[in-house]
Amino acid sequence: MSEARRRALEAVALSMAGRGWAVFPIMPGRKFPPAWHRADTCPGTGPCAGGHVTPEHLATTDPETIARVWAKVPYNVAVFAGKSGRHVIDCDVRKPTEPAGPDGWEELQALAAHRGGPLPDTWTTSTPSGGRQLWYPVPPGVRLSSTVKHIAAHVDTRGWGGYALAPGSVRDDGAYELFDDTEGPELPGWLVQASVRLPPTASTGRTEKPVAAPDAYTATALRAECDRVRAAPSGRRNKALSTAAYALGQLVGADLLDEATARAELENAVAAWNTPGSWGKDTGVITTALAAGSRNRRRVTPRAGSRRVA
Ligand SMILES: [Zn+2]
Repeated sequence: MSEARRRALEAVALSMAGRGWAVFPIMPGRKFPPAWHRADTCPGTGPCAGGHVTPEHLATTDPETIARVWAKVPYNVAVFAGKSGRHVIDCDVRKPTEPAGPDGWEELQALAAHRGGPLPDTWTTSTPSGGRQLWYPVPPGVRLSSTVKHIAAHVDTRGWGGYALAPGSVRDDGAYELFDDTEGPELPGWLVQASVRLPPTASTGRTEKPVAAPDAYTATALRAECDRVRAAPSGRRNKALSTAAYALGQLVGADLLDEATARAELENAVAAWNTPGSWGKDTGVITTALAAGSRNRRRVTPRAGSRRVA
């Protein structure tokens, strides 16, 4: 690997961070995995001293950290989409083994036409295989996970928990390139709806232990508690997190909310603080407060078709 390539990729990482996008190194020449260990091989040292942390939590916009990480190795540059306020619509090409038919981009255009929704130009990259990725800004208050073959057969999305490679990243078969530098509008509403994953109860019939989708009251409470955590100023974060986790624990105890969902949403809210150094402590607070809340479950009285909390 040449020094020129390392320098180019370091510049890419800094430029992405300059847009406010959180980057993380990917092994040179690869699309994945991140240059990081998995949870099951965690050494429990360094950033993981207080518990395993993920690349998404470590992804950063800090120029000094980036300069240090990219100083010797020509890492490819992953941008964690959700943490960067983007939702990436990933349109793939058909595999050579597939029968003839529309590719992901054509499927997306057809879907837009069918739903009567706009498909505005936006910041777009091309992939080595010939696919394209549309990096839409996420509207305020909207939170989307990643999806696989959910929007269409050749269209995935990268939201929270997912990343896309920045232009300039290189694989054996080619490079990711900037295809369109338009700064377009936010992700259109029809694509927000299309990107929402249905809860596991949605009649797959294969779920081992069906988890009830949160009802409207619970979903509102979940969103409100996590918004409060996300917005808490430093200095009040510990208290805000503990309060929110306790409140959600009460809903878990009342069987209104799945514990894994509560934990995942709280962890995502904490990730927005961008404080990987305290990740171990924060997840400890979540565990403790969720458990305490669930031992003191809320009493819920059904009344005239609605639920009131006593
Ligand atoms: Zn670890």
